[in-house]
Amino acid sequence: MKILVATDKPFAPVAVEGIRNEIEAAGHQLALLEKYGNKETLLKAVADADALIIRSDVIDEEVMAAAPRLRIVVRAGAGYDNVDLKAATAHGICVMNTPGQNANAVAELAMGLMVMAARNMYDGTSGTELRGKTLGIHAYGNVGRNVARIARGFGMKIQAYDAFPAAIEAMKQDGVTPVATTDDLYSTSNVVSIHIPATPETVRSIGQHLIGLLPKGAILVNTARREVIDEDGLISVLDARPDLKYVTDIRPAQEADIQAKAPGRYFATPKKMGAQTAEANINAGIAAARQIVTYFRDGCERFRVNP
Ligand code: NAD
Repeated sequence: MKILVATDKPFAPVAVEGIRNEIEAAGHQLALLEKYGNKETLLKAVADADALIIRSDVIDEEVMAAAPRLRIVVRAGAGYDNVDLKAATAHGICVMNTPGQNANAVAELAMGLMVMAARNMYDGTSGTELRGKTLGIHAYGNVGRNVARIARGFGMKIQAYDAFPAAIEAMKQDGVTPVATTDDLYSTSNVVSIHIPATPETVRSIGQHLIGLLPKGAILVNTARREVIDEDGLISVLDARPDLKYVTDIRPAQEADIQAKAPGRYFATPKKMGAQTAEANINAGIAAARQIVTYFRDGCERFRVNP
């Protein structure tokens, strides 16, 4: 089988080497398309691919239609909102992600952003400490769970909200206090760290109402997705509440407005950097290769995300 690694933002070379080893050891062939820059190049490259490993690359109906042999797409990472799942199902293509492989990397970045905000973006003024503060984790999946593990070492009180029973069970196992509603989470947490996926239910779900519930001096950390924030709501609350701070790994669409309304209280990483570590790259890339190998060998569809 021909397995195409199509990454506009390439994996680290050591990760590509690991992927190659997995694929070639199983008797498959690896093709590499990096920094392709435009869709035309991607469309040509997928023409004879049986499997695809991608990162944030957009795989839509047009790409699938150009790939008649394609049977599986694996998004090396957690979020798969860059793949058209409906189109994949219609084309008989299995879509998977590699959950958990970059979770520690994202969680460490979330903690770093929290410290930065607590210390007033390192502007030379006196800040606050995280110890003793209440951390509210919005969605207790792989990243949220790692944030809880690290935050415990900071001496924070940890509570979380998640919409699904398995995550509530995980909170109980970890000694994290489950809260019943997002209103409860936002109104009682000094720091809220967002870890929900971008879905039709969550897009623009965090806006004026929830952010306005945050207690005085609170910090909102977003390492999830830009789309989950209602930016108009965020801007109006930051404007009305000079005590609040917003730090994010995903540059907002209305960044200039936010900077104007919240000078010194806002920071965004220059690029999405949560999963940008050598370790996460290697883990997610190799997991993707292994999932494809077992899919072709045994038909194993563990981590399938489309119906
Ligand atoms: P995950 O799938 O392990 O966990 C997601 C959690 O969200 C689950 O516990 C699920 O029950 C919960 N959830 C789903 N819908 C919800 C809702 N409406 N309300 C409350 N909870 C809900 O994913 P993860 O690995 O923890 O990653 C979380 C998100 O972080 C990803 O979806 C992705 O968008 C983002 N992410 C960002 C980066 C980055 O580079 N900054 C890297 C990886 C992931």
